Amino acid sequence: MADRKPVKVTEEQLEEQRQFMREVRALPQRPRSYFVVTYGCQMNAHDSEILAGMLRDMGMEEAHDRENADFVLFNTCCVRDNAERRALGNVTWLKEVRKRNPNLVIGVCGCMIQQPGMAEKIMKQYRFVDLAFGTSNLYRLPELLCRTLNSDRAVVEVEDEDTIAEDLPVRRLRQDAAYITIMYGCDNFCSYCIVPYVRGRERSRDMDDILREAETLRNSGVKEIMLLGQNVNSYGKGLEGGATFAELLRRLDDMDIPRIRFMTSHPKDLSDELIDVMRGSRHILPQFHLPVQSGSDEILRQMNRRYTREQYLNRVRALRDAVPGIGLTTDIIVGFPGETEEQFQDTMSLVKEVGYDSAFTFIYSPRKGTRAAAMDGQINEAVATDRIQRLIALQDQCQKEAMARFLGQEEEVLVEGLSRRSDKAVSGKGRHGVSITLPGTEEDVGQIVRVRVNEIKNNTLMAERL
Ligand code: SF4
Repeated sequence: MADRKPVKVTEEQLEEQRQFMREVRALPQRPRSYFVVTYGCQMNAHDSEILAGMLRDMGMEEAHDRENADFVLFNTCCVRDNAERRALGNVTWLKEVRKRNPNLVIGVCGCMIQQPGMAEKIMKQYRFVDLAFGTSNLYRLPELLCRTLNSDRAVVEVEDEDTIAEDLPVRRLRQDAAYITIMYGCDNFCSYCIVPYVRGRERSRDMDDILREAETLRNSGVKEIMLLGQNVNSYGKGLEGGATFAELLRRLDDMDIPRIRFMTSHPKDLSDELIDVMRGSRHILPQFHLPVQSGSDEILRQMNRRYTREQYLNRVRALRDAVPGIGLTTDIIVGFPGETEEQFQDTMSLVKEVGYDSAFTFIYSPRKGTRAAAMDGQINEAVATDRIQRLIALQDQCQKEAMARFLGQEEEVLVEGLSRRSDKAVSGKGRHGVSITLPGTEEDVGQIVRVRVNEIKNNTLMAERL
């Protein structure tokens, strides 16, 4: 695996797929509508936008829900056991829908399928699935669907290649904000994580391709771009010319896209150069998602995170010095194998010390094939549940305290939609990444609105328009 080189999909290969799109469009038995069900992270959400873009170009309309679609495609995640179980449960449920609609085509793709042996398992235990493919051959959906529609047998394709495909059609979920994937895969091999095994080795897109995509989005009126990667801070590794993430951000900042965000970052790769770019930027939002995972040096070592608690806190201080008031968020795992109460308390004290705006907290979920799954000292569920409840309660308190800094302050909100609580209010994210509700109507959706925060309700900021 160590010597694997990224493979850029050629223009000829893409043209071949376009030809398959035309063939699918001409098939009388082709599905007329599709529904993509997405599990997992933003990377998967963006992959689903690409899958939807290809399906649209094959002449299909998006169905209102999965029960009324002719082709249902599950874009799966395997990072946590419950995401995998949920996906398989929902695939099974569709078997019932097939009884009403015998022409229904069922597909499963994404990380879950990329696990060794999973495609075979699906085909044996879920015989009603028509099509299964992994993450690296996503761009071949037109060909695989064409073969499925022309055959009585299921089509299964899982490649073990680290591909980069440019210029695929995208059906974006939002018109005002867009994802741009800048790198794929991960080389870090944190001991609990399955991503390097299913998403392949780290590989970065050429900077020119990213800038071109960003320019097109800006020209189409997009107000916010979110740069995506498993570890965006190490963007550029392996590219000629020594490209870095900091350099990419600097170039994007010069493009005058109103808002630029990114995720996810690994603390060990958060460079002073990047912090400097954030200090002087006009459009990079003052927010940073910096997963800590644990506050205990020993657990961090067992997790193979390659930083200590102090090194992490040092990065937090550097970010806060450079960008005062920056919104910090994190990911935390509790109940990692061997975690003692004392080590858990190290996590609690770190959470108090940092004062995150929000935290994604998880109970450790063993993933087959990772080093941690074979470690001694697996923590029982009751202990892990008790720890996560205490952690959530603490974070809730810290969040209240962190939110207080916004009271009376001006903010800019990119309005995402009507508020769930009132049809006279809208909500969206402020520059620091915090949800803000303000008076407004449907017409505000997609606009950037200046507000002043005047109340905090259930950790949501309430604001008046300026
Ligand atoms: S950095 Fe660690 S946790 Fe994140 S994707 Fe890579 S291996 Fe997984």
